[in-house]
Parts: sequence; C-alpha cells; structure tokens
Amino acid sequence: MLFIDRAYLNSSLTEDVNRRGGLIVCKPWRGAGMRPGLFGKRDFNVNVRDGTITCPMGEVEPFEPGAVVHFDPEACGPCAMRANCTQAASGKGRSVTMGDDEPLQKKLRTLQQTRAGRETLRERVAVEHRLAHLANRQGPKARYRGTRRNTFDLRRLSAIQNLETIARRERQGGLRAA
Ligand code: SF4
Repeated sequence: MLFIDRAYLNSSLTEDVNRRGGLIVCKPWRGAGMRPGLFGKRDFNVNVRDGTITCPMGEVEPFEPGAVVHFDPEACGPCAMRANCTQAASGKGRSVTMGDDEPLQKKLRTLQQTRAGRETLRERVAVEHRLAHLANRQGPKARYRGTRRNTFDLRRLSAIQNLETIARRERQGGLRAA
C-alpha cells in the first residue's frame, strides 16, 4: 500500500507500485475545468477498457488519455441537465479533460467513493497536517542552495515541530492532571 501526495502521482515509485498491483492511496485530480456545483468527473462513467466516457445523461464519447473530450453540442444544447453540467457558451457542449493516467485516476475515484476507501484516505490527514505546519514554518522558498543544506534545514524544522508537539502534549497532560 502506498500513501502518497497527488503531486507525486507521476513518480516512478507510484508507477512501480501500480504495475505490481499495489494499492495507491491518494485523492484523484479534480480535473481541469471542474467547477463546484457542476457535475464532476466522478459523475461521468469512464470505461477505461473501451476508451469511452458516458455523461450523466447517457451521452457517450470516445477518449484518448491526456486529451480533452468535447461532448456533442447538439446533445448538450437542449439537455435538461445542462445547468448542472456546464457553463460553456451557447452552441458548445461540455468538455472533460482526461488524464494521461486515466486508469489510475479511475481507481482513485472509486477508492474515494467507498466508505472503506474514505477511511483509508483519512489515515493520511495527520501527515498532511504535519506537512502544512512545516510548509508554514518554511515558507514557499528553499532557504539555501543545494539539496544537502535544504535537507538539513528540513530536518531541523521537523525537530523543532516535534519538540513543540511534545511540549504541548506535556502541558495538556499537566493541565489534565491538575
Ligand atoms: S450537458 Fe451534455 S454532457 Fe452534460 S449531462 Fe447534458 S448531454 Fe451530458
């Protein structure tokens, strides 16, 4: 099982684990152009084997990995669900960007849709919080030139973070004991 951040989904490690049939635990990409309140990619049925994508109203289009699928404007124009699906200009249909790694993305979407999958994903939340704290402390830029010094810097920040956590827990323990 590999818990990994989305930013590393294209890594050789992910590819290797996936090829060997291991479980990858990560949130899928939301997809370019996906807007809150409109159908997301998970509302479409992606058939990786046939290379087709079916919209919530049953329109089917073929797809190529990494390409943008354009649904037929003649179907989208009068569609009863258009307002829930696209803000495309009149005369245009819904478009959906397909990932280069669409089979993996589909697995990740399926994982996210099951209760067991969501519980497994939540196991990473603690790690994400720690990373967010480190990112806050570090800021958006590397402090030094070169990997060696920056690795040292990251370890130093992690040690400070851990010491603060220990001190906080001891304080809380002390308050409870009092
Ligand atoms: S607007 Fe187009 S893509 Fe969206 S549900 Fe309707 S027919 Fe399907």
